[in-house]
Amino acid sequence: MAFGWIDEQADARRRAGLVRTLRPRPAHSPLLDLAGNDYLGLTRHPEVAEGAARAARTWGGGATGSRLVTGTTALHTELERELADFCGFEAALVLSSGYAANLAAVTALGPHGSLIVSDAGNHASLIDGCRLARGTTQVVAHADPDAVRKALRTHDGPAVAVSDTVFSVDGDAAPLTALAEACRERGAGLVLDDAHGLGVLGDGGRGAPHAAGLAGADDAVATVTLSKSLGSQGGAVLGPARVIDHLVNTARTFIFDTGLAPAAAGAALAALSVLRREPERAARARAVAGELHARLTAAGHQAVRPDAAVVSVRAPSPERALRWAADCRAAGLAVGCFRPPSVPDGISRLRLTARADLSGGQIERAVQIIGATRP
Ligand code: PMP
Repeated sequence: MAFGWIDEQADARRRAGLVRTLRPRPAHSPLLDLAGNDYLGLTRHPEVAEGAARAARTWGGGATGSRLVTGTTALHTELERELADFCGFEAALVLSSGYAANLAAVTALGPHGSLIVSDAGNHASLIDGCRLARGTTQVVAHADPDAVRKALRTHDGPAVAVSDTVFSVDGDAAPLTALAEACRERGAGLVLDDAHGLGVLGDGGRGAPHAAGLAGADDAVATVTLSKSLGSQGGAVLGPARVIDHLVNTARTFIFDTGLAPAAAGAALAALSVLRREPERAARARAVAGELHARLTAAGHQAVRPDAAVVSVRAPSPERALRWAADCRAAGLAVGCFRPPSVPDGISRLRLTARADLSGGQIERAVQIIGATRP
């Protein structure tokens, strides 16, 4: 029978307690949400919603075609200018997701004959970029600039190192300055996925590359998502104009993909305008993360010190992590649950996202529920 083999896999998943299911989220949930990635609380900001609505009224429900054909509107070019300017890069290219942005950056900058050095903790989209790229990938130890240096020394010719700036599982930051140094010694490029840094790290949320003095460098490229701190949907690659031109001409997830929906571009532009006006949102998201971590640690939980807005709490086993998350939900708190195979190290965690708009009372309640439901 066609697809018969998938039943065996499904059985194995059930036996291991690793079945995933989709659960529609109500528009107005009574749950306290520490599971989403709306770091700055902008998704439902009236200006962001109105930015999306105005764009949809002007341009319709979709971009109508790929960016090189009919899918580029004035909103796309305005968003590219604004993202580049805000984050301190020369140019930007907007794609339909952060995932597509990572595939574009890694495949276009890791051509045949090149070496791609990839951190073992990188996000799946960077990993898939490495798999799709024609260059050879070497995976190196997590957050280890010396391992990157060693790998780069094994290769003559074009090379690039790729890393998350803030790792999505544990919320720890990459050592960007040391990474850039290791790359520069060998004339290699650096691609940084700032999905969890934009809007949270750097001056007014300008991101981790900006904070590390790498924004605008001729050997550094950043990718971002519009779907977390900017409360919209979509992604972008930021870098030197010649790199962006190269992507426009060669990156398949840019060329063969329908342009980002104008409503998403309109929402992201509105979010950037709010962030420019209210830069304190970034510091507040970091402070909430720090407070969550401090309170959880004081209550005896094993929480990783957050470098941005992601707070990771260790769970004893995948089953107990799942039960813990379900018990939190039943008590009114939505948290993320990371377990194998999403986490290659086999360590299951609850994943909490700090939000700039969380009140002291909400933080207190979250910590109390996590403590009361502890497995
Ligand atoms: N990179 C990282 C580190 C992420 O966490 C995510 C989102 N889960 C992405 C890239 C992909 O971004 P998007 O959701 O916009 O495709």
